[in-house]
Amino acid sequence: MLQLRNVGLDYLDGGDTVHALRRINLTLSGTGLVLISGPTGSGKSTMLRVLAGREDPSRGEIALDGENTARWNETRRSAWRRRVGDASEELLLPDRTAAENAALSARMAGWRGADARRQASDALAALGLSDRSRALPGEMTARERKLTAIGCALARDPEILLLDEPFEGLDAITVQQVRELLTERASVRMVVAFSRDPMLFDGAEDTAAELEEGEIVSLRNEPEAGPPVPAPAPASAGPAMALASLFRPRGKAAVRLFGMFASVLAVCLGLACLQGAQRRASALQAETLAAYPLVLGKDSVTSGDLESLAAFLDREIDPHGAQIQRSRALTPQIYSLGADGRIRQVTPDEENGTALWTELPRGEELQHTGYDLVSGRWPNRYDEAAVLLDSQGSLDRACMQALGLSSEEAAAGLNYMDLLRLSFRVVLPTGEYVQNVDGTWGYLGGDESFLNDMVRNSLPLKIVGILRPVQTGAADVRIGGVLYMSELTDWVTESINTSRIVTEQRSDPSRDVLTGLPFNDGTLDSDLAAKRQLLKSRVSASSGAYQVQLYQRLTDDKVDETAAEELLLQLLDGMEEEKVTELFDQEIGRYISAGSLEDNLRSFGVLDAGELAGLRIYALSFAYRGKLASILNRYEQRVSYTDPAAAVISAGASMLESQGTVFPVLRWVLLCLGALGVILASALPLLTRKRETAVLRALGLPGDRAAGALVWEALLLGLLGSAAGTLGALLIQSFVSAFREGLPWSTALLIGAGAAILGAVSARIAAGDTSRRSPAEALRRAEE
Ligand code: ADP
Ligand code: MG
Repeated sequence: MLQLRNVGLDYLDGGDTVHALRRINLTLSGTGLVLISGPTGSGKSTMLRVLAGREDPSRGEIALDGENTARWNETRRSAWRRRVGDASEELLLPDRTAAENAALSARMAGWRGADARRQASDALAALGLSDRSRALPGEMTARERKLTAIGCALARDPEILLLDEPFEGLDAITVQQVRELLTERASVRMVVAFSRDPMLFDGAEDTAAELEEGEIVSLRNEPEAGPPVPAPAPASAGPAMALASLFRPRGKAAVRLFGMFASVLAVCLGLACLQGAQRRASALQAETLAAYPLVLGKDSVTSGDLESLAAFLDREIDPHGAQIQRSRALTPQIYSLGADGRIRQVTPDEENGTALWTELPRGEELQHTGYDLVSGRWPNRYDEAAVLLDSQGSLDRACMQALGLSSEEAAAGLNYMDLLRLSFRVVLPTGEYVQNVDGTWGYLGGDESFLNDMVRNSLPLKIVGILRPVQTGAADVRIGGVLYMSELTDWVTESINTSRIVTEQRSDPSRDVLTGLPFNDGTLDSDLAAKRQLLKSRVSASSGAYQVQLYQRLTDDKVDETAAEELLLQLLDGMEEEKVTELFDQEIGRYISAGSLEDNLRSFGVLDAGELAGLRIYALSFAYRGKLASILNRYEQRVSYTDPAAAVISAGASMLESQGTVFPVLRWVLLCLGALGVILASALPLLTRKRETAVLRALGLPGDRAAGALVWEALLLGLLGSAAGTLGALLIQSFVSAFREGLPWSTALLIGAGAAILGAVSARIAAGDTSRRSPAEALRRAEE
C-alpha cells in the first residue's frame, strides 16, 4: 500500500522554481486499474517517478505500508523500487536486446536465472513481441519500444505497474490487446496508468484521478487500504552478472579487454627490451673481460718477483670483484702423432715466440663466457683439450701450426671431425732420462728412435671439442690455437715431482744423479782466481813426477824435479784465462760434477713447475676492472703491463653508467604509461555507463551493488586482458630474439596481476558513490 500525503516536488529550471507537483494526496492499494489523467505539464510523469521511488519529493510524505519513506536508506528504497514495475522507455538499456532487458528487469525484481528468463519471454509473448526479442532498442520502431518497455515492467510481476501514456504510438489493434492485458492484470495487481486522455479506458477504470498543475482536482473511487505485500530480496550483481555481461558482444568489453591486453603487453615487452639491453650489456662486459684479462708477467715488475705481487693482489683484490689465475713457468711438452707416423713437437714452440697452446682459465663460468662451443664438447679432464678457432671462427695458420699440421694437410681441407681425430701425447721432461746399470741416469732425449718410442708411450691427449672466442667487438682479432686444461699443468707438475729421477736427486742433493759425482759448490764456475788457486794447491800437493809431466805437457820443455813446482806456480800465475779454465776442467773438473743441483732440477722441469710465470686477472665488471689499475698503483714497485682492451672497457664502462641512470627512469615512464592505459581501459568506459547504474538502481538494485557490478566487470576484464597480455608477452619473448629472456615470467605475472588490481580499483573510484543521487536524477545526469 502506497500513500502520498501532501506530496509536492519542485524543480530548479535555470533560476526558476517549477512546481511540478504541488499537493498530491492519493492511496494506492490492493488491486485495480487506476487512471491518472491531466494535460501536458500537469505533473503526470513526475508523479510516476515519485511513486516508483525514483524521485524524492520536496514536501509532504510518502508511506509504504504505513511507514514514512523519507528517512529510508538506499537499501530500503531499493526494496520499494523492486515492488514497482515502471514501464518507462528510459529504463531500457540500449546495448541489450528486448529479451535481455526484460530478463534483467525481472532479475532485478527478485526473479532468479531461468525464472527471470521465462518471465521475460512470457511477458514479451503476451505483447506479441516474441519475434523481436533479439532486437536492440535502437533497432526497434517506436511501437515496439513502447511494448518492450511495458514487457519489461510486466516481466517483474510487480505489485504496482506504472505506465506513462501506455497507448501512445500504438495502432488500434495493439491498443485493444494492451488494454485487455492491463484490465486482466488489474484483477490481480494494481495497474496505474498516466495519460492526457481521461477516456483512455472508456471509463472502465476502477479509480480515476485528474491532475492539473500538480494537483489532483478530481478523484473517483480512491482504493481502500489493503494488507502489506513483502518486498522481494535484492538481486545479486556479483561476478556471475559481470561474466554474463562480458559475453554480450555489443558491449565495450572487447575494446576494454584489448586496452588491458595492449597495456600489459606493452609494459611487459618494454621492460623486456630494457632488461634485454641491460643483460646484453653485462654479457658483453663479461665476455670482454673474459677475453682480455689483465696479464702480468715476470717483466711486469723490475725485481721479477711475481710471487710477492701475487700475494699483494691476493690481499687487495675483492674476490667478488675479480678472479686471479696463476700460470706456471712450466708448459707441458706436447707432440703430435702425424698420419704419416712422424712425431712433431707442437709445444713449447721454441721457434715461435707466441704460445699457441694456452691454458683454459679455471672455472666453467669464465670458460663459457670466454669461448663458444662450435663442435664436440667442452674438455673437462686433464687429458682433454679443444681446438681454438680464430675470432672469425675459422681455422687459421696459427691453429694449423699449433696442431702440427703440415701445409699439405691443411691444403687438403679439414672438417671438424678430422680435427677431433688428431692424436697428441704429453711428454714429461723426466721421461727423457733412463737409468743406467750403475745407477746413474742418462739423457736419451736426443736419440731419435728412443724419443719416438717414448712419445708413443706417453699420456694421450684427446681433442674433444672445437671452440671459438666469444666475439666482443669489431676490432676483435684473436688467433687460433689449442686450449688445454690447467689440470694438465697440475698433472705434469705432480708427475715430475713424483718421478724416480727427481725423488732420487732430492734424496741426495749433494750428488748429481746424472754422473754420480758430487756437485761443485757452484762458486768455481765464474771465479777464475779460485780456479787458479785450486790448481796451485793441487800442483804443490802432488808428486814431483806429476809436476814434471804437467810442466812438460804445458810448455813442451823438460824440467828438473826440484825446479818443477816453482816453475809451474809461475806459469799458472801468468797463464791466460782460457787456459786456466781448460786446465781446471782437465785436472780437477772431471772429478766433480759439471752441473749443479739447480741445473738438474731445471732440466727435469721441477723448477719451472714451481715457478710463477704469469698472473691473469679476470675482473667481473668494467667498474672493478677500472679499480684494478689503482690497486696495482699501490704496489711498492711500479707495475707495468699493456692492456689491449682498455679502450673497449672504458667505453663500455661509460655506456653502463649512462644506462644505469637512464634505464630506471625509462622503466618508471613505461610503468606509468602502462598504468594510464589500464586506467583508461577500465575506468573511462564506466563514466559512459552511469546510465546503466542509474537504470539498475531504478529497477531495484541497491546502489552499492550496482557499482559492484561494474567493478566486478572491470576486475574480470582486467584479469582476462592482463592474462592475455602477460601470456602474449611471454610468447613473443620466446619467439622474437630481440626480447628473448628479457623478462622473467614471475615479473610478467606480477605486472599482469598489478594491472588487474589497478583496473578494479580505478573502476571502483570511477563508479563513485552511486546512491548519492536519486535514480531519476542520476539518469538525467547520465543523459546529459
Ligand atoms: P507531464 O508528464 O504531465 O507532461 P511532467 O511531470 O513531465 O508533466 O512535468 C511537470 C512540470 O515539471 C512541467 O512544467 C515540466 O516542465 C517540469 N519538469 C519536469 N521535469 C523537470 C526537470 N527535470 N527539470 C525541470 N523541470 C521539469
Ligand atoms: Mg509526461
